[in-house]
Amino acid sequence: MAQVERCSVCTGNGYISCPICNGKGKIRKDTDFLSNNVFKVGGDVERCQTCQGTGKLLCKICNGAGKILVEKPSSTGFRPFS
Ligand SMILES: [Zn+2]
Ligand SMILES: [Zn+2]
Repeated sequence: MAQVERCSVCTGNGYISCPICNGKGKIRKDTDFLSNNVFKVGGDVERCQTCQGTGKLLCKICNGAGKILVEKPSSTGFRPFS
């Protein structure tokens, strides 16, 4: 029988923290160089393209629903769907 369970990947949120920007929605371009090849200390902060600046990514496991349908093997053998 199938049972609805909370998605363990996103812990029921339906989204996961973006691994590119660590959920901040912004990334720092530490390796940026100016046109005259002087290293830019600190770098630019720009919006994370992966999560569009939200810091969140849709959970691919549950498709953002936060819950998944789990097939539970019946210990009592075959039973008609109730
Ligand atoms: Zn991101
Ligand atoms: Zn999920």
